Amino acid sequence: MKDPEAVREIPAKSASLADWYTAAVLKAELADYAPVRGCMVIRPYGYALWENMQQRLDARFKATGHQNAYFPTLIPESFFQREARHVAGFAPEVWWVTHRGSDKLEERLALRPTSEAIINAMFARWVKSYRDLPVLLNQWCNIFRAEKATRLFLRTSEFLWQEGHTLHRTYEEAQEETLRILDLYLDFIRGDLAMPVLAGIKPESEKFAGADRTYTMEAMMPDGQALQAGTSHNLGQGFARAFDIKYLDEDNTEKHPWGTSWGVSSRLIGALVMTHGDDRGLFLPPKVAPVQVVVVPILFGRGDDAVLARCSEAVAALAGLRVKLDADPKQTAGWKFNQHEMLGIPVRVEIGPKDVEKAGAVLVPRDGSGKRFIRFEDLKAKTDKLLDEVQSRMSAAALDRMRSTMADAADFAGFRGRLAEQPGFIRVFWCGTQDCENRIIDETKTTPRVIVPGEQNKVRGPCIACGKETGTRIHYARTY
Ligand SMILES: [Zn+2]
Repeated sequence: MKDPEAVREIPAKSASLADWYTAAVLKAELADYAPVRGCMVIRPYGYALWENMQQRLDARFKATGHQNAYFPTLIPESFFQREARHVAGFAPEVWWVTHRGSDKLEERLALRPTSEAIINAMFARWVKSYRDLPVLLNQWCNIFRAEKATRLFLRTSEFLWQEGHTLHRTYEEAQEETLRILDLYLDFIRGDLAMPVLAGIKPESEKFAGADRTYTMEAMMPDGQALQAGTSHNLGQGFARAFDIKYLDEDNTEKHPWGTSWGVSSRLIGALVMTHGDDRGLFLPPKVAPVQVVVVPILFGRGDDAVLARCSEAVAALAGLRVKLDADPKQTAGWKFNQHEMLGIPVRVEIGPKDVEKAGAVLVPRDGSGKRFIRFEDLKAKTDKLLDEVQSRMSAAALDRMRSTMADAADFAGFRGRLAEQPGFIRVFWCGTQDCENRIIDETKTTPRVIVPGEQNKVRGPCIACGKETGTRIHYARTY
């Protein structure tokens, strides 16, 4: 029998978030370290979580008219260098392939750090007429960005993501697409992942290399550091010009189309773990949890057959949900409860001899909001309802936690004081200049995260750096 105390190896989340996080991820077997420094292995439980996230996003992409495609991992250096800002932004993170077998290549090949270069080069061959527009493509793939240290899911040299790439006839259409995707991501992140984020625009310094405008979603982790949960970029005509993509418009003139690109990655798994987990381990939102419900027979040796039969009936009654029956006779019920809580399974169903006698079952939500005895005939309906409740409670609790980290600062002393006391999002008035942005970064050792459109020009105040009056407010935070 395994050590019943084994799950206690996860340190307290409040003591050290970093240690807790690593232990929670390793213990739940979401991922492990790979032999190559900076790389990780996604284990089956983690991959099942990713697949659920992937499916829910993919359905949304397809419902909005996008199609999946696949482009090669290897990108010729010359392609990559065609958009100057783009190559400068990514240069330090690129892995290069220099040999084919033992032959040195004449031109180095990049392992894709993102695919704008290769995809736009292909678009130039495919897009000829206004009838070819819009192009609405998405790619699910792996990405390489050189990292020396690994933080499982959060920072690794290779990770999984999706990248959307679109082309449009007009600037307005491209902007609409950029915002449509931002909304789609928000629906997924807030709705399915129960994760609150601040959504809005990035200032110049934090924009994607090559984009006209970057929209971002910024989540707040329990240690007061922000984590970028995803981005949607309006690329303007930069890439279309760099890659010479031209189409003949209805008016018989050649024009460059307008582009967008957007992505979220397996990093979201890290954000999800940190947002919802607790001292017992993971806590996964029902909408994406690999196992939504675990059924545990309570066995005493007497009447066990009836209990096990009833548990099988319970699994059948819960068809349509992701259900696991844990009838392993070698483990005690108590050990299993700890194990399932560590794995973050949102709802547990317990059935013992008394429950069989009373034609019922016991439902236990992972957030400890109370066990309840239900009639067996209500099992499916009550479980569905409880899963919805757990999902909503996770959203509400996470939103409360994020809000408790948000504050306004009028001067640098106030900013630093707040940061020391309660790190999180700190909102300041900012005149919009690069000089003042740099000064805020220097003075506070934080970075500008997001300008939330709904918060602009409601009230005015002095720029925290230069004192000039402005209606622009921006959130700063320390970041991952
Ligand atoms: Zn200023």
